[in-house]
Amino acid sequence: MSAPRAHYPQCRVVLLLTGLCLALAVRALVAHPGAGQAPTVVDPTDGPITVTGQWRFRPGDDLAWASPSYDDSDWATAPEPRRWPLAGFPEFGQMVWYRLVLTFDRHSPSDRRRLEQLGIRMGRVPNAYELYAGGQLLGGVGKLPPLAEVNYERRRVYQIPPSTIAADGSLVLALRVWGGTNIAQRVWNAGLHEREFTLGSYRDLLLADVWRNVPGLLISGLFIAFGVYHLYLYRRNRQLDSYLWFGLLAITVAVYSLMLNQAKYALDWPFLVFKKLEYGVIYLLPALTLQMVWSLLREPIGRWLRFYQLSFVAGSILIVVIPGHDIHYRTVGWLEWWTLPLLLVLTPWLALRKAIQGNSEARTLLVGLLVFLLACSHDILINLVGIKADRLLPYGFLAIMLAMAVSLANRFTSMLNRLEHAVEQRTAQLSEANARLARAASVDPLTGLLNRRGFLERATAEIQRVGRSGRSFIVVLADIDNFKRFNDRHGHACGDHVLRRSAATLQEGVRDVDQVARWGGEEFILLLPETTLEGGAILTEKLRATIAGRQLQYADKRLTITMTFGISSYRKGETLDSCIARADTALYRGKEQGRNKVIVDSYKGLTLVD
Ligand code: GH3
Ligand code: MG
Ligand code: MG
Repeated sequence: MSAPRAHYPQCRVVLLLTGLCLALAVRALVAHPGAGQAPTVVDPTDGPITVTGQWRFRPGDDLAWASPSYDDSDWATAPEPRRWPLAGFPEFGQMVWYRLVLTFDRHSPSDRRRLEQLGIRMGRVPNAYELYAGGQLLGGVGKLPPLAEVNYERRRVYQIPPSTIAADGSLVLALRVWGGTNIAQRVWNAGLHEREFTLGSYRDLLLADVWRNVPGLLISGLFIAFGVYHLYLYRRNRQLDSYLWFGLLAITVAVYSLMLNQAKYALDWPFLVFKKLEYGVIYLLPALTLQMVWSLLREPIGRWLRFYQLSFVAGSILIVVIPGHDIHYRTVGWLEWWTLPLLLVLTPWLALRKAIQGNSEARTLLVGLLVFLLACSHDILINLVGIKADRLLPYGFLAIMLAMAVSLANRFTSMLNRLEHAVEQRTAQLSEANARLARAASVDPLTGLLNRRGFLERATAEIQRVGRSGRSFIVVLADIDNFKRFNDRHGHACGDHVLRRSAATLQEGVRDVDQVARWGGEEFILLLPETTLEGGAILTEKLRATIAGRQLQYADKRLTITMTFGISSYRKGETLDSCIARADTALYRGKEQGRNKVIVDSYKGLTLVD
């Protein structure tokens, strides 16, 4: 069977995906070059403008700082975006302001029209903030103290009303930011984190934002479809436990990747709910991955490994149950460290070991793992080196999920193959057993000759042959004389012995094409194909003489056996019964005439051969 070969085309799919992920990584790197200094004087016909570098910065909180007329010349010029110092500004309640003054060229009416549809897309601002334009509040994310509702991921697009742009074409943007609780500030830091503060057509920015979420949504949808399908397969066949884990894992990944997507804000749930969901599943992922991979590669989970696995489940429960965000800030670093042994050592080691042992599922999985690790490394680089790129982790997950799906499909195929093979084997065994049964049904166990049924089958076939060739056959009925006496005098076992020996003598005395069968009791029947009455009589006479001439040794006794024979020739068109009946009549005559005789049934009557 060429089953192992069949894996390779599927492996290629995973390889292709690796390529895709790499290409995406490169694209992401190229698409986000380091930010240059943005001009303060902006031409709105230029299309989207990244607003970076020119912000002024001041810790503290005063609503007057939103006003366009406020003089901020003594504020620090900060090369934003960048993070705050690690401790933040606890002395100001973690409150800071940013201000940016832009001046627009407004030469033509069409440019003025463009300014009427101006919008700004905000990058990531940990934590809650309010955005003002020309002193007017445009909106915000989360809630500032004293309400202090944490929300640090949402990227929103705001419309900038034309009224906020002064007559001289200047626009003052002011950002009032709360860095979050002190603990969040110590662990995560705050500030304008990402360089995606873009001015442009409000409509275009909004549309681009919707499009940005589509790939993530598609991936989530794919994961959910994967997951539900495999759970359904598991429901149909409870032995496929890998399918159960794969299904749960896929749905967990789907939830995770939905939580990474900005589209989730369409749900309008509290930010805390999103975060509890995200962290809940992120802690479950390692536990499920371990379960899935180990079950896929048929490796038992040892006690310590189980303990390790359950620690993730416990973490997931704790993180959901403990209220507030602080638990997230405090544990996420530990979680990353705690996951590393699974990601970098345990799983690759198991997959490698199994792959070397020739496990093709492990090989496929290894490719997926490789892509996943690449994606992980890429995302770690984002954190460490500050590459501005989209996170690839969901694609890494996709590769691993695909590899798992391919493995599962392979397993399913090989399971089917094995099943088919087993069915083939069973069928062969069955038909052999059937043949044995059929043989047993037509063989007499005592003598090993055909029984009556076996004989009738052969004779019927012979009658058909006569119909074609025209050459008739002979039927000989043979009956042991006074057989009862053997039983009576020497016991049933002696009778059986006599029967076996007589059968053997008859069998030895005929040609290969002739058929000897046990007709019943101590009667035998012979079929001699393509034989004349004369020929049959000669053969039968020889048999009679041989039997009568031999002495049979049974225990210490010497026994003489004689048999009486009745012969008839099959006449074309008559039934087998009538042919046998004529032989029987001849046999009966032989008995009447003193036994140990051969009597031939002829047209003219019965002939005695001696
Ligand atoms: P005849 O010369 O007229 O044929 O007399 P016979 O004794 O041979 O015939 P009869 O029909 O009176 O007796 C046949 C006996 O064969 C009756 C039965 O108990 C015995 N017999 C039938 N089948 C077997 C068998 O398989 N083993 C043994 N030991 N005896 C059998
Ligand atoms: Mg008899
Ligand atoms: Mg008899």
